Amino acid sequence: MFTIGCHLSSSKGFTGMGRDAVSIGANTFQFFTRNPRGGTAKPIDLDDIRSYNELAAEHGFGPVIAHAPYTMNPCAATESLREFSLNTMLDDLLRLSHIPGSLYNFHPGSHVGQGIDAGIELIAEIVSKLLAEDGPTLILLETMAGKGSEVGSRFEEIKRIIDLAGGSDRLGVTLDTCHVYDAGYDIVGDLDGVLDEFDNVIGLSRLKAIHLNDSKNPFCSHKDRHEKIGQGSIGTNAFAAIINHPALCELPFCLETPQDDLKGWADEIALLKSLRTV
Ligand code: FE
Ligand code: FE
Ligand code: ZN
Repeated sequence: MFTIGCHLSSSKGFTGMGRDAVSIGANTFQFFTRNPRGGTAKPIDLDDIRSYNELAAEHGFGPVIAHAPYTMNPCAATESLREFSLNTMLDDLLRLSHIPGSLYNFHPGSHVGQGIDAGIELIAEIVSKLLAEDGPTLILLETMAGKGSEVGSRFEEIKRIIDLAGGSDRLGVTLDTCHVYDAGYDIVGDLDGVLDEFDNVIGLSRLKAIHLNDSKNPFCSHKDRHEKIGQGSIGTNAFAAIINHPALCELPFCLETPQDDLKGWADEIALLKSLRTV
């Protein structure tokens, strides 16, 4: 099954996002668990979740991706900021336990000058505290572009976090195409080589979702500026190879490209469907 969707605004609730997804030809979507600038999440609306789960079953939705607020930093230098990340993530996971098959994606964080090793240890500490609470939701570390002091732009860094946190089966990875290309993994010239490297370092069984984004910047630029599919340095042919690759084709694909409205997403999803051959 081709599981394809995009990032939607959570202001309409789950049922609203589900309807929007259906209207643009999507069968998954991503949303922010709360305002990315921080703040409290809306109370859980169980009626909304129930009607969303019905709609998702009716339309054969794949797993949906909940994105943690990108402003929190699990390896911040001050304990109170790390504590804030932990509590936010614990609360998010509690909410997500109502959405069967949901995935929880987060940015590992920025070490803000403490060094990559210290960053990795602090992130692993938070992740192991998340895992101490049982729950059905997979926790996904997103591969990063390596902007500033971001941790997680090398597969080795992600692997060390997973291992230090105990290697639980609840831990997985989201591969963001813009981020890995920006980080120096050549998915345009050597997709097989990059996936072999991912397999050797982390293991492809950990790969649970793909963020599909073209990049405004050239290879290895460590910038993290997303572009519409086919209009950036990655290009249409590379996306055709990615969505049809035997190691990737059954994963949920989620667009995070700059679109003004649902029509933009609908067109982009239609383009990707036209490129799908498997
Ligand atoms: Fe992200
Ligand atoms: Fe992403
Ligand atoms: Zn990004």
